[in-house]
This record gives sequence, C-alpha cells and structure tokens, in this order.
Amino acid sequence: MKKITACLSALGAAVALMAPAASALAQQRFITIGTGGVTGVYYAAGGAICRLVNKDRARHGIRCSVESTGGSVFNVNTLKAGELDLGFTQSDVQFNAARGLAQFRDGGPHGDLRAVFSVHPEPFTVVARKEVNARTLNDLKGKRFNVGNPGSGTRAAMEELMAAMGWKMSDFSLAAELKADEHGPALCDGKIDGFIFGVGHPSANIQDPTTSCGAKLVSITGPAVDRLIADKPYYAKATIPGGLYPNNPDAAQTYGVLATVVASSKTTPETVYQVVKAVFDNFDEFKRLHPALANLRPESMIRDGLSAPLHEGAVRYYREKGWIK
Ligand code: GLU
Repeated sequence: MKKITACLSALGAAVALMAPAASALAQQRFITIGTGGVTGVYYAAGGAICRLVNKDRARHGIRCSVESTGGSVFNVNTLKAGELDLGFTQSDVQFNAARGLAQFRDGGPHGDLRAVFSVHPEPFTVVARKEVNARTLNDLKGKRFNVGNPGSGTRAAMEELMAAMGWKMSDFSLAAELKADEHGPALCDGKIDGFIFGVGHPSANIQDPTTSCGAKLVSITGPAVDRLIADKPYYAKATIPGGLYPNNPDAAQTYGVLATVVASSKTTPETVYQVVKAVFDNFDEFKRLHPALANLRPESMIRDGLSAPLHEGAVRYYREKGWIK
C-alpha cells in the first residue's frame, strides 16, 4: 500500500510538472523563413537569423526554422499564399513583386509584401569549366548553360539579361534548369559548360566547383549590362575580388542586386519585431555567423534595396532605436 501511494504521488508530481510545460508549449509559435539551396548564402543567413531568434525563445516563445527552397520568386509567392512567415528575396524580385512587373505581371502587385531589411550584395556570378576558356558571358553562347531553376531570382534576372542582350534560350546548345545545389556538381561532371548564380560571396556554392575542378569565374559586361544598370534602380556594378576562390586569381567584373528579407502584412508585428530585434541586438554575432555578412551596416540594411513598404514590426524596432522617424 505504501508503495502504491508513493507511486501515485510520484505520478501526481509528474503531472504537476507537465502542466507548466504544456502551457509554455501552447504559447510557443513556430515560424519558418524561406531561403534557397543549402549551399547558398540565403540558407546560411536564415540559419543565422533563426539561431539568434531561438536563443531568446524562453522570453518571446517564438521558435524559428529555415526551409530550403527554390529561391527568391518561390519565396515571394509562398509568402503570398500564407505558407511562410518570412523569406529571402533579391531586391529586383522584391521590386517587381511589389509593382506587379516581370514574372508577377499576371498576379498583379503583391500588396501584402513587406520589407524587413536588406542583407548582403548578390553579384550575378557566372562560372565556367576551365576547358571552355571563357572570359565573358558572350563566350558561353552556343554552349550548355544552366539558366537557373524557375522560381529562383537567378532565373528571373537571367531572363531580364537575355532580353537585354537579344538572346533566346535556343542560343544555348542546352539551356539547363538545374537548382543551385546541382549546378556545381553538373559543371565538374562535364554535363554543363557554365552556370549563373546571383549569390553572396564567399559562398560554398562557388567554393565547391572552383576547388574540385578548377572552375573559372567569368565576367558579365558589355553595352546590354551598362544599359540595364542605367535603366533599372535595383542593379549596380559589382566586382568579385580576385583570390577569393581557389584557382581564380583575377577579379570578375559583373553587376548585381542586394539580398533582402521580406514578410507579409499578415505576418504578425510581434513576430517581425522579435526577428529584427534578435538580429540587431546581436549584430556583431550576426555578422560573424557567415563571411558574406561580415560587412553589413544597419543604416544601409534598413534603407537600401527595399521597395515594398517596411513591415510594421520592423518599423517598431527601428523607431525604438531612433533609426527612422
Ligand atoms: N539569389 C538566389 C535566388 O533567389 C539565391 C541565393 C542564395 O541561395 O544564397 O535565386
């Protein structure tokens, strides 16, 4: 009898212990950030954001996780469908989504799209097999080239570039649509001659093929590029420094956009406030979590590359800081 009583009271204690745990669980909110391929910078930067958010989850109850996705256009469309809380997108894609241009023409302006902050620069990066001896993108005409998967910001920008150059998909002997995680291995296996990727640097995605098969960075320059930079507010000239990747001592000249983090007006202000607070309250740590983030500055992040209205939760934090009126 004594034994049973002891057992029962132990059970009672266990139940009593579970009660607060269950209520904490009920208050927990799970949020998901849409990123890109796992070898890209979005995935790593999203991981860095979630790590900082989760550090403080006992206080705010938000549990953050990242999802690997097809990239910028997919993230914006999935936010619109209410299936992501936040997502990464190129600044050109944000611009077009907010205004209903380019690949967003059919759906019209994405009125719920909200900017949170911008992150690292993303130069459009062309990489070719060393055997091709390409100096510029022009040398890849007629070759087997990966134009990027539909849903990626890379593909969207490639289509804009090809239109400016007067190129058609049939100008390549093969226009592959591989995902970013697949293009490096395909290049080193000799299945494609080159690929394009709008990505921050340094990135594992570019490190891998330059290391394992001596792949070469190729410049994207010429009158069509100059015109694009002059006409489009979201493009700027960019240089990928020499020596950043193995077997690539020379700089590549190109142009690019900024990576940005966006949300929906349906993402709660509290969620976005806590995400923004986690990043900027721990800013030195954030910058150390990936080398592509090392040179970020808050004043540029809350100003550059943002064409959708700022999210209410972000505005709240930036006002508290005195960064905006
Ligand atoms: N900018 C790329 C895209 O949307 C993704 C870059 C990354 O994954 O870091 O296609």
